Amino acid sequence: MTIEPVHLESLKKISGPKGWIDDQADMSGFLQEPRDKYQGQTPLILLPDSTEQTARIVRYCAQYKMPIVPQGGNSGLVGGAIPTGEILLSLKRLKAIRQQDASNLTMTVEAGCILSHIQELAKNMGCLFPLSLAAEGSCMIGGNISTNAGGVNVLHYGNMRNLILGLEVVLPNGEVWHGLGGLRKDNTGYDLKQLFIGAEGSLGIITAATLKLSPYPHEKQTAFVAVRDPEAAVDLLTIARNISGDCLTAFEIIPRVGIDMVTGNMPNVRNPMTQAYDWYILLECTSSLSRDLLNLEAVMERILSAGLEEGLILDGVIAKNNAESENLWHLRENLSEAQKFEGGSIKHDISVPISAIPAFLIEAARVVEAAIPGARAVPFGHLGDGNLHYNISQPKNMAKQDFLDQWENLNRSVHDVVDKFSGSFSAEHGIGRMKTDDMLRYKSKVEMDMMTKIKNTLDPDNIMNPNVIIKHHHHQKKS
Ligand SMILES: Cc1cc2nc3c(=O)[nH]c(=O)nc-3n(C[C@H](O)[C@H](O)[C@H](O)COP(=O)(O)OP(=O)(O)OC[C@H]3O[C@@H](n4cnc5c(N)ncnc54)[C@H](O)[C@@H]3O)c2cc1C
Repeated sequence: MTIEPVHLESLKKISGPKGWIDDQADMSGFLQEPRDKYQGQTPLILLPDSTEQTARIVRYCAQYKMPIVPQGGNSGLVGGAIPTGEILLSLKRLKAIRQQDASNLTMTVEAGCILSHIQELAKNMGCLFPLSLAAEGSCMIGGNISTNAGGVNVLHYGNMRNLILGLEVVLPNGEVWHGLGGLRKDNTGYDLKQLFIGAEGSLGIITAATLKLSPYPHEKQTAFVAVRDPEAAVDLLTIARNISGDCLTAFEIIPRVGIDMVTGNMPNVRNPMTQAYDWYILLECTSSLSRDLLNLEAVMERILSAGLEEGLILDGVIAKNNAESENLWHLRENLSEAQKFEGGSIKHDISVPISAIPAFLIEAARVVEAAIPGARAVPFGHLGDGNLHYNISQPKNMAKQDFLDQWENLNRSVHDVVDKFSGSFSAEHGIGRMKTDDMLRYKSKVEMDMMTKIKNTLDPDNIMNPNVIIKHHHHQKKS
């Protein structure tokens, strides 16, 4: 697709002198993504600094049917923010904090605010914005909403969808939907914001959002335990949920091979256990109740002693202070990075019912070994949500590219196992450009038809992030 120079000039004019980039070198950072799986291409990057300017850009693009790819922090893992010749619209200059309301437990922010900045602002209000993920220093709230991001606190607080009370969106025709607001109850017809949460920019551009905050949990207990096997991990989760009241906020699983990769490849990360075990759990309880009202240490100790008595836990440590807690979290958060030192890694972001995780792991390991003998499965992640990053590191003696060439085949084999367990082939990262074929394979015709109709209704000319979520030919066929 080529965009006529006259249109590029008009768009630059609408965006103002600081609102565009067309120099190839300056654009390069916007066109690569974390896994280097996609190399983007665009004639022009636009960086509007207001909702009105964003709307004017979209109106112009709609008039001439020119496609747009919205981008936030570009930390997405499915290629959804990487243009293939379309105009790239970066939200990074939309970063005003419009309103903070501690009594209503809300904050209204623009789409380009960095997640960690929002967490800090909330903390200064005495509140918590609970979304937390390893990319929080670079991902932006508009991107988090557009991917319905998950992360490590979903178990207690839900994913992004549960943290949004209102949205402001520029629709594909350039109209602005002013849907901000701090209401927890509002049953006035269809809940339109839900359509845009997780839509990966395919239905419009989110320019601002009203976020739901929680009281700040000052008390925290973090533990790292070795468990007998994944079945024991699931049983321990049940025990932890029952004993902890409502304060279990994270429950992450890490296999031995993952711990070895982190401690072997990353500096300043320490495994506090001297003996080696096959499976580990990182669990955390938090509470806004003060120490005199709730002895959280005793709660954690009770969970661990129940786990020991049942023979589920083999060993473990409880962090004595913040520094120790952070060290435990480093073991978890460095896993993806540590895998990079082990050659190629083929990724899956799957979920199955929590109870099915042990059986899934057995069957998936069998399928992986049959497909690529010696490949090393490193399944880790949000066991408490039934969500595993089922990442496979290459066999030690294989050429990296030969292994990576198997990406689609291996995805297919693993996703078929996921499907057998009524799971999801994309639990939290979305579809982007990477998983559109999986959509056609695993979603029902009824589901695809509904999604295509929604897309066609809001974006009849297919200018909003085309080929993301729904592949173009499917879109056209149905239109
Ligand atoms: C190290 C690492 C760890 C991660 N951990 C997690 C995790 O635990 N949980 C998780 O869910 N994800 C995780 N991710 C994935 C990623 O961080 C999330 O998907 C994040 O929400 C993306 O935000 P972003 O601002 O970077 O969006 P981008 O990558 O810029 O965009 C993502 C998608 O949203 C669209 N988009 C962006 N902004 C807007 C907007 N304002 N309006 C409309 N559409 C828009 C884009 O077109 C694209 O389709 C991780 C990524 C990395 C690199």
